[in-house]
Amino acid sequence: MIEQLRQRARELLGEGTVALVIGYGRGNSPQATFPVFIKKADEVDRLVFNPFCRNNLAVYLTRKDIMPKGAVGLVARPEEVRSVAVLVQEQQFDPDKVVLIGVACAEPGKEGAACEMLKGRTLKELEAEVAERLKGRDPAQEVAAKVQELEAMTPEQRLAFWEKEFSRCIRCYACRQACPMCYCERCIVEKNQPQWIPSSPRPLGNYFWNVIRAFHLAGRCIGCGACARACPMGIPLDLLNAKVAREVKESFAYEAGFDHEVPPPMASFRTDDEQEFIK
Ligand code: SF4
Ligand code: SF4
Repeated sequence: MIEQLRQRARELLGEGTVALVIGYGRGNSPQATFPVFIKKADEVDRLVFNPFCRNNLAVYLTRKDIMPKGAVGLVARPEEVRSVAVLVQEQQFDPDKVVLIGVACAEPGKEGAACEMLKGRTLKELEAEVAERLKGRDPAQEVAAKVQELEAMTPEQRLAFWEKEFSRCIRCYACRQACPMCYCERCIVEKNQPQWIPSSPRPLGNYFWNVIRAFHLAGRCIGCGACARACPMGIPLDLLNAKVAREVKESFAYEAGFDHEVPPPMASFRTDDEQEFIK
């Protein structure tokens, strides 16, 4: 499939449909890849794709210093397709300026797992294909089991668990930088007049930072896990995000990133909503 991927990138760059292709390149070991930015058709051989392609490349689509004037081609795993769906919902770029090159691996992270090109070309087609692939499969089974363990704790035990985890946060913001949905030009944590969140890595500010970030991602996080993988302290951010996503699903019957035409729950309302949460 790697030849098909390179051929598609070659076509897009060669015919001038896109000015840049963002994909994965070979890392220092067979299990490592890193993002590559390709501007010329004769450089497409730098592209690789395998089960170890884990960065969420959609993070670059809102970066003004990286996005070209013309269109961009994006190597898009199911995680990128879902991220693009959220970013299009949130009107972060003109969808006609992003050409998706759909790819998927049967078992991400597993050596030798089969990878293939996705058939769809448009965002709508790829969303449907991704939904079909993920149907009946819980990609975060391990995370879901741990969320259940946390739910079984008393509120005091849960608070103690998270206080302990957040106490290790060094406020490097790698989680924010790795996340496609953390695109605010000025993050709340950097505002100091007034200062909403204490900025030094101490328990109170750490707690605010991590909880506020989780709330800001409610109904938007697609569960790619890039934030948890980026965290140098190994804080289980995926558990927090999965819990919030679960609450959103139960309350609004909504999962982020499967249909960019559906209004997101945190930015829409129904006039017949019983609004029980207000009581
Ligand atoms: S899992 Fe983390 S990086 Fe991925 S969308 Fe959710 S908050 Fe962002
Ligand atoms: S990546 Fe980890 S240590 Fe860094 S700010 Fe985020 S939670 Fe804290």
